[in-house]
Amino acid sequence: MSIIGFIGLGNMGNPMAANLVKAGHTVKGFDLVAANLETAKANGVTVADDAAAAIDGADVVITMLPAGKHVLAVHGDIAPAMKKGALLIDCSTIDVDSARAAHAIAEKHGLLSVDAPVSGGVGGAAAGTLTFMAGGSKDAFAAAAPVLEPMAGKVVHCGDAGNGQAAKICNNMILGISMIGVGEAFVLAEKLGLSHQALFDVASTSSGQCWSLTTYCPVPGPVPTSPANKDYAPGFAAALMLKDLKLAQSAAQSAGAATPLGAEAAQLYGLFDNAGHGGKDFSAIVKFLRGEKLT
Ligand code: NAD
Repeated sequence: MSIIGFIGLGNMGNPMAANLVKAGHTVKGFDLVAANLETAKANGVTVADDAAAAIDGADVVITMLPAGKHVLAVHGDIAPAMKKGALLIDCSTIDVDSARAAHAIAEKHGLLSVDAPVSGGVGGAAAGTLTFMAGGSKDAFAAAAPVLEPMAGKVVHCGDAGNGQAAKICNNMILGISMIGVGEAFVLAEKLGLSHQALFDVASTSSGQCWSLTTYCPVPGPVPTSPANKDYAPGFAAALMLKDLKLAQSAAQSAGAATPLGAEAAQLYGLFDNAGHGGKDFSAIVKFLRGEKLT
């Protein structure tokens, strides 16, 4: 069993750290928010006064932070003080360039490093069923896989430094675009007098089939577990979808990839967020496409 430092005990980090404690690891945690430290303590995490205390003596350090600037600042502070040969894992969703810069910091200080963003949300974090998309060397991945296992349903090695983030934003760009496509189809069907159920029954077993339709159907009825049946309570909040679509756009720009539908999806979710709906599930975009007022 390892000594694990865990920095960033928010909505995702706290349940993830709790699963590491349940697996028998010693977890020392730090967050800037006192209430998050209280929750961590109740989950069996040893609460540290600062990041330096959380990483002291740790074999592995995990960060779960809001954005690239936070990750680079924290990694820059802690990497020089970590044990040589220790493992630094960042599970935050951040831009690919920052992820690669974080790997460079780790390498400079003789550490193994992995970028390992997740999919599965707060529910997956609590259940220990997250999908981890990992980027880093073979040795770093081999060291990280057993650490991630108690928090994971699946761990995929996506390639070298930054490729975990690359996989995450490519996947979420597909998701944002496909949800808008499915929403548009339902709005068109309504105008044509075609019922939601009839469109679902056909498209879910035809070439229009996709996750946004069959698992996360944006209109109430056909998939009883989808957020549409709970007034679009998230789920996956539209503000987080917007964050990931913006990351995809900045990666496309720096890599020189043409992603016109990704750009359009980012614009639409930007308008949706500006209208005050960032806290709704991202599938609520169907109401926006319909021109309907959201409550
Ligand atoms: P959150 O805001 O709840 O948690 C982030 C935590 O980091 C906060 O508690 C904050 O206090 C802490 N923090 C910030 N700077 C710090 C510092 N210097 N030192 C210590 N702690 C610091 O966010 P979250 O929902 O837990 O998401 C975390 C990451 O996971 C984000 O990158 C997000 O995009 C990604 N993500 C979230 C979800 C989701 O459904 N919430 C799903 C997949 C991925």
